[in-house]
This record gives sequence, structure tokens and C-alpha cells, in this order.
Amino acid sequence: MSKPVIFCVIGTRPEAIKVAPVMLEFLKFSEVCTPMLISTGQHKEILYQSLATFGLKPNEDLEIMQHGSSLAQVTCRALDGLDNLVQKYQPAYILGQGDTTTTLVAAMDAFYRNVPFGHIEAGLRTDTVRNPFPEEYNRRVASVTADLHFPPTTWSRDNLLHEHHDPSKIFVTGNTGIDAVVLAANQGEQPWFPEHTGRVVLMTTHRRENWGEPQKNIATAALALVNKFPDVLLVTAMHPNPTVRETLIPILGNHDRIKLIEPPEYELFVKLMQRSTLILSDSGGVQEEAPAFGIPVLVLRDTTERPEGVTAGTAKLVGTNTDRIIEEGTTLLGDPAAYKAMANAVSPYGDGKASERIRYLVLKSLGIETPEVPMWN
Ligand code: UDP
Repeated sequence: MSKPVIFCVIGTRPEAIKVAPVMLEFLKFSEVCTPMLISTGQHKEILYQSLATFGLKPNEDLEIMQHGSSLAQVTCRALDGLDNLVQKYQPAYILGQGDTTTTLVAAMDAFYRNVPFGHIEAGLRTDTVRNPFPEEYNRRVASVTADLHFPPTTWSRDNLLHEHHDPSKIFVTGNTGIDAVVLAANQGEQPWFPEHTGRVVLMTTHRRENWGEPQKNIATAALALVNKFPDVLLVTAMHPNPTVRETLIPILGNHDRIKLIEPPEYELFVKLMQRSTLILSDSGGVQEEAPAFGIPVLVLRDTTERPEGVTAGTAKLVGTNTDRIIEEGTTLLGDPAAYKAMANAVSPYGDGKASERIRYLVLKSLGIETPEVPMWN
């Protein structure tokens, strides 16, 4: 009997990072299955860069991205391209991760072609389908399609239960992003900014809903914090998106304690997180990863689909108001007790074994028994 083909579909940097440990896990079992890493090519350089940390490259890359494409164009090209690959390789299972257009397309094509679909990082929700746009819509559609749901936490599991998804198909695995961060942290030794003896504050901001005025406010607040704390070096890993850069460079581009750097590849970014005292970010992945190292995150958004960190005390939702960011940043940089309370809070996002659980559950659903790992929760 031929081995079942398992498609691990990715398109963007966060998917590459969070699917890489799952792909590596299936590769350990390549005697019984044939995993394939399929990229739609929604992101290019930063996707390959992230995969390099794990020694992976896509088996197929649809390279769908063209400058200035609309969401509808991206969706059509990705769906058409993926459908051709599904016909060519006849996968027995399709896995998608998170909430991107690629995830939406993977879920849709699995549905059209009647291939079981597993949703990694299922059940994250805000209370409105339009925010974040289009991610909230994408992940809701993925849930409708999924045969197996892999929520990272009990909170995300409960969201799925409230929507009446079949409880026997929902498994709390922990977040595969924690598997990834553990793998990356254990590789090599790259000290970052060793010439700077003071504290490092790391900032990333790229979300569509923060483009323009909110991002101006964020940059203005970051500048004020640097001016207020003379031992602080602000390092901003700049997303390649030109809209983001046009806002950040005029405000932050001319200060001797501010470094605007190209987005470091994943392993280096993890080292940079480990070197940081505080992180200001609107990234979803960073909110999950930083608590694994005990680093507080001020979340530069008004809503988050990751309230577990806020409840556990590892992250604080501060929005994009300049004064509020300065106030919260000042508390953490200036008050050791407040800092310690956040730094010592326990990460709710996983134990680094999510990929093993997913491998076990997917192969089991295909009638293949492999070693079982007790669920995360
Ligand atoms: N990341 C990276 N280099 C950077 C910034 C982020 O490798 O310069 C990683 C980060 O560790 C996390 C992922 O990229 O795993 C998050 O991606 P992003 O912020 O683009 O997306 P989100 O998580 O908000 O969907």
C-alpha cells in the first residue's frame, strides 16, 4: 500500500514558523507517511528565511504573489494553484495553520476535493468577524471545514465548543509556535547588540489595522520612551511592507539609541527576544513566544485573539494611544516590582510538544498508530 501524502500548507512567515515543527515531526515518521510542505508564496523572502532555521524548503511553491494584488486575486490564484497540486499528489490529509488567506484557501480546497482538513491553532476569536481583517473571517471558515481542530489552549477550545463544533474532533495541543521557539532557542549562540550594555526594548509593528495614524502614535511613544530611559536601546525589526516603513523611518530613523533593522531571520529574532527586557508588538506570534522567555509584552492593539497571555499576566493590551503606551512602558521600565510580576507570570501557550500531538492525531485518523503524547490540557 502506498504511503499517505500529507500536505502542510503555508503562505506567510508565521505559518512557516508554526508549521515547520509539524513538518519536521511528520518527517520523523516518513516510513509511514509522505509529508509535503506546500507554499502558496503569499510571503517570499521572509518565508524562506524562517524555514532556513529549521533546514526546510517548500516541496512546491505556487509563487502567487504579485505586487498590488487584491485579496480576491490572491485567493483565486492560491486556490487554483493548490487545487492543481491536490489533483497531482492526491493528499490523504491537508493541514493549514492560523488565519491567513492561504489557510482559507487550504480549507476551501480540502472541502471541494473532499480531503480531510486539520486546522492548527484553531479557535482563536475576536467578537467581530471584520476585525482583524481578513484574519477573523479566514479562521472562522477554516473551523467550519475542519475534521480535526487543534486549539492551542482551553480558551480557544471553548470558543469552538460555543460554536457547536463536534467535541470529539477538538484536541488542545498547545501552540506549535512554542515548539518552534524551543527549537530555535536551542540552536547556536548569537549575542545581539553586545556593544550595548543597557537594556534592549524590541518593537515590531506590521498589522494592517495599525497602518497610518496608529503606527505614527506607536512610533512617537517608542521615541518618548527611549528619551526617558537613557540606558535603553530600541531595536525595531521592520516588516518589509513599504507602508510600515514610510511611517516608522521619519519618526525613528535619526536617533543614536534606535536601530531600525531588517527583519532578522527567525533564529536571530528569537535570540533578539531573549536579549530584550521588554517587547512592544502588534504581532500575534510574538505575544505567544516572548512569555516562553519571561519577557513582558505590551500589545499594540485594541483587541487580541490571545487573551490567555493577558489573563496569565504575561502580556498587557495597551492599544495605540501614544500616552497610554508611554505610561505602560514607563511603569515596566521604571518599576522593578511591576516588571517582575509580568516577567514571572507563567506562559499559557504550550510545552513544546504540540507537533507530536498533531502527528499522533492525524496519523491515527488515517488508521496509522504512532506514539501518543498526552494532550496539553
Ligand atoms: N519574526 C521573525 N523576524 C522578525 C519579526 C518576527 O522571525 O523580524 C517571527 C516571530 O518570532 C513570530 C513570527 O515571525 O514567530 C510572527 O510573524 P508576524 O508578526 O509577521 O505575524 P503574526 O504572528 O502577527 O501573524
